[in-house]
Amino acid sequence: MSTWVSRMRQAVIGWLYPPACGACDLPLEAARQLVKPFLCESCEGTLVPIGAHYCRICGQGFESASATPFRCGNCGDRELAIDFAVSVYRGSGAGKRLMHHFKYGKQRHLGRLFGVMLDDVWRDERLHGGPWWVVPVPLHPRRLRERGFNQSRELALELIRRAPEGMDLTYQPLLERVKQTTRQAQLDRRERLTNLSDVFEACEKLPSAPSGGARILLVDDVITTGTTVSECAAVLYERLEIGQIAAISVLRG
Ligand SMILES: [Zn+2]
Ligand SMILES: [Zn+2]
Repeated sequence: MSTWVSRMRQAVIGWLYPPACGACDLPLEAARQLVKPFLCESCEGTLVPIGAHYCRICGQGFESASATPFRCGNCGDRELAIDFAVSVYRGSGAGKRLMHHFKYGKQRHLGRLFGVMLDDVWRDERLHGGPWWVVPVPLHPRRLRERGFNQSRELALELIRRAPEGMDLTYQPLLERVKQTTRQAQLDRRERLTNLSDVFEACEKLPSAPSGGARILLVDDVITTGTTVSECAAVLYERLEIGQIAAISVLRG
């Protein structure tokens, strides 16, 4: 997007929402808004990037590189239906507060900040190239009415809008959530692993997969155990010829 269009857009958004940090409410200068919209420097300092060391399957962050192969504490004893997941920040500090305000505080404009934060998923070269069908994890219609928007859809659209040159991304909302469940955040690990069976379905009408199978990029706000994205992947496998399924999230629970 041209700088001019970006500045105009910024001016309109600034008028609608006088810019303040989404985590601590500190008023923000216009120049700061262009770098990291809706995030002050001190809250940015509390974000913990996952960085370079993470599980090549479920995306769980590690403290440092390991020279010897070992079983991942999160996915080593489970079969996930996704090929791999990549997250950007740990779900602590300002990251957690921002996401809470985004989802439960009707602060839809924070989607722009999460879009900027998501830029870092491209550090994983497995995501390069494409084509990918970008599929948001759906909300149950009742929750969608309460919240007014699906946070994963907002993130998927920002991802596509900001993707690096040469990426071939198509927005494809292929999934529905047919059962309302207890919020994953309120459950312990064992409950999370079993809370989600029969929750998702593929939409009735699906596009036909390209030859070699569809390459699917699932988008969620937070990945914790990976169960949600794995359930989504499993229902897509039942209905489509699949080439590969990856999942991305801004935060790692
Ligand atoms: Zn702040
Ligand atoms: Zn893992």
